[in-house]
Amino acid sequence: MSNIENAEEKLIALNKKILACSQCALRTGCKNVVPGEGCATTKIMFIGEGPGAKEDATGHPFVGASGKFLDEMLASINLKRPDIYIANVVKCRPPNNRDPLPEEVTACWPWLLEQIKIIQPQLIVTLGRYSMERFFPQQKISQIHGKALRRKVNRLGHQVFYISFHPAAALYNGSMRETLIKDFKRIPKVLKVIEKESSKQSR
Ligand code: URA
Repeated sequence: MSNIENAEEKLIALNKKILACSQCALRTGCKNVVPGEGCATTKIMFIGEGPGAKEDATGHPFVGASGKFLDEMLASINLKRPDIYIANVVKCRPPNNRDPLPEEVTACWPWLLEQIKIIQPQLIVTLGRYSMERFFPQQKISQIHGKALRRKVNRLGHQVFYISFHPAAALYNGSMRETLIKDFKRIPKVLKVIEKESSKQSR
């Protein structure tokens, strides 16, 4: 079995478990669980906050207005959805789009951790404060957006992250839109540096 087939099978098996999860109260209030989707062996994984109304209705991540803007930014760096994997910190929609509670993020963390372990991305792009805080709890997004940071994550090992604001932040704020676009434009360069470093190490 090829690496991609292996990773795809593992993600399919994991998704079944995620769909059956009832570790927190969010599952009782949502229509569909949204595990995530995309390329199982991608170099670049995006992590958002949690499903909104459209995602809840369809079971797919980032299919609403912020997903449309995300697609535009991906296109600006020559990426399409099938090239990446996209998941959320919580897999079920918080009622009325409220922020996920710390206990909901904690309950959902083992699923996200398993997804990252299977996919083994070279780079994780965090979208928004809740995603950033999962990995950098002491930091302020206004200070570290547009930066690539490496840290050791418990049960995961060393991982490189790139911090972005959430695409929804740009929907009603023109200057935030410019910042997001500018930050996204740096992603290919960050990936190149990571690839250069890992090819040096494997020599
Ligand atoms: N916002 C998110 O954080 N995730 C989605 O899937 C949709 C909107």
